[in-house]
Amino acid sequence: MTDVSGEMTVESGHVNPLGSSATSDLFQILRDGKPRTRTELAAITGLARSTIGLRIDALMRLGLVGAIGDAVSTGGRPSAQFALAASGRVVLGVDVGASHVRAAISDLTGRILAEEAAPIPVSEGPERVLSWVAATGTGLLERTGRTIDDLLAVGIGVPGPVEHSTGRPANPPIMPGWDRFDIPGRLQATFAVPVLVDNDVNIMALGERELAWPDASHLIFVKVATGIGSGVISGGLLQRGAQGTAGDIGHVYVARGKDVPCHCGNRGCLEALASGRALAKAMTASGLEAGSSQDVVDLVKAGNLEAIQAVRQAGRDIGEVLTTCVSLINPSAIVIGGALAQAGEHLIAGVREVVYTRSMPLATEHLQITQSRVGPDAGVLGACMLAIHHALSPDRVEAMVLGAA
Ligand SMILES: [Zn+2]
Repeated sequence: MTDVSGEMTVESGHVNPLGSSATSDLFQILRDGKPRTRTELAAITGLARSTIGLRIDALMRLGLVGAIGDAVSTGGRPSAQFALAASGRVVLGVDVGASHVRAAISDLTGRILAEEAAPIPVSEGPERVLSWVAATGTGLLERTGRTIDDLLAVGIGVPGPVEHSTGRPANPPIMPGWDRFDIPGRLQATFAVPVLVDNDVNIMALGERELAWPDASHLIFVKVATGIGSGVISGGLLQRGAQGTAGDIGHVYVARGKDVPCHCGNRGCLEALASGRALAKAMTASGLEAGSSQDVVDLVKAGNLEAIQAVRQAGRDIGEVLTTCVSLINPSAIVIGGALAQAGEHLIAGVREVVYTRSMPLATEHLQITQSRVGPDAGVLGACMLAIHHALSPDRVEAMVLGAA
């Protein structure tokens, strides 16, 4: 089985029929955080208690497993229990947005230990942004009393398409200088650990799912900000598609905008009609002061009727595209995030109006359409989860055990 970010995992309680499960298999059992004694682990795996003891020792040396308290004994000595050592090691998560960078150190459950942000536009190029990440990541490690040796992996989200196998951006429209840039190579000069790169909407989908929808296996996260994109979790897995562009709904055609030019060169794209940039442009054209998604949100919050109507219509346009997505993947949740989602119910109401009216009843019977609950932290949290899923995968844990032996 694979976990949400696509890493191979072994099901909790998995028993290897050959009785020779590796140390990493034992770790996958303990990964749920539930404390277990050596005897319980021997019963689950079919391994001898002495073998369990050796493998627990190896995992404890790596800082992945810790002894916690004592089990209530059935008479005689209390027996030690073992579980995931949540704070034994850490990861670095980075969310590179169009106009900001945010970095955080988290423990192995995704709990943020320290965080920092800076208003650096992605258009200043990879060297400027990634040197800030290297310096800030090092500073955050120090601030949390950790060293580079405690770091297991780095996860980073960027606002553009990424070739998943190499971690290199592929023709990103708003990231001049980043095309094919070796992001993992640059960061590994400072942090000699695996570096995972994904697009920002995918990491937001991971973060939102982790904190707000842990039981949802079918979820679409839509980011409505300067542009529009979505992250798709289907069958419990983040879907990247063949080239990493799955969920790229910003340039789907919407009939209402057939004459509206888009920066991609086509006409009638969803993004040209319903993004924060498009709405700000429309507000400006009618004499209001709006240069960004935030300005549009401010107008809505101030009760400006024209802005409210425009945001509601943007919701309907997004809903039109999402209706097709609902037919394709039958999600149980659609979560709307990004700066324009701060306009609150007006945007969501437009989305609901169209999706609930136009979808087949069975597809929407249990479908929830809501605003992001995690908010601006979804990206950085998702980047941490991307790093954790990779670092704790069976292959990586096995490699660490062998490397430390
Ligand atoms: Zn377009």
